[in-house]
Amino acid sequence: MHMNTEGLIIRENSTGENDRVVTILTRDYGVLRAFARGAKKTKSSMQSGTQLLCYSRLSLFKGSDAYIVDSAEPLEVFFKLRENIERLALAQYFCELAGELSPEYEGAQEQLRLVLNALHFLASGKKPQPLLKAVVELRLMSLAGYMPNLVGCDGCGKFEDKVMFFDPLEGSISCPGCSRAGIELDMGILTAMRFICYSPDSKLFSFGLPEKSLSKLSSVTEEYLRSRVQRRFKTLDFYNTLVQGV
Ligand SMILES: [Zn+2]
Repeated sequence: MHMNTEGLIIRENSTGENDRVVTILTRDYGVLRAFARGAKKTKSSMQSGTQLLCYSRLSLFKGSDAYIVDSAEPLEVFFKLRENIERLALAQYFCELAGELSPEYEGAQEQLRLVLNALHFLASGKKPQPLLKAVVELRLMSLAGYMPNLVGCDGCGKFEDKVMFFDPLEGSISCPGCSRAGIELDMGILTAMRFICYSPDSKLFSFGLPEKSLSKLSSVTEEYLRSRVQRRFKTLDFYNTLVQGV
């Protein structure tokens, strides 16, 4: 069966002398793994079109037990990400996360658009990294069925207070009168989290917060991710060692 789609290469491994096995986040078929024969021979479009972080127009063939890349034409290569180790590390984390949280065998248009937009902002340096990280984490989780309930206090329904408390295990919020368990959030951070969960794709990255709040936001979405997805992300650990120096 032949399949035509667009996709972002989110993982790349060598196999044999000239071949690659790639994991692709595709628009129409979700996450899939495919063989790219001759992909390491230089000067072929297959070579550039199946590299990590390349967004390509793809023609795939589904064999009896594997997908094979027939052709890969690069549409966007994100070269600039390779000039900065922190940006590259965060981009690789976005790829690993998308691979974990996106569907297989069904369309993943929203996930693909989200990651591509995040990579554009990351490459251009136009948005702070903690903002991009928080958006990608929380939105990918929401798309995967882990959207927290941020509408109002879990106990009394209250929409806002001076501070609210977020329970990362339950994915719910409480007002100080009902429960103070969880992470204390000021309204700026809670408003940003609501925005990430509930706003349309086109507006998703268009909010701002002071630097300190962004860093807190990023740590809250990361903690929520860790409570929901019970596995470690090597790329996240690596990114954190770069930015926190731990
Ligand atoms: Zn309450």
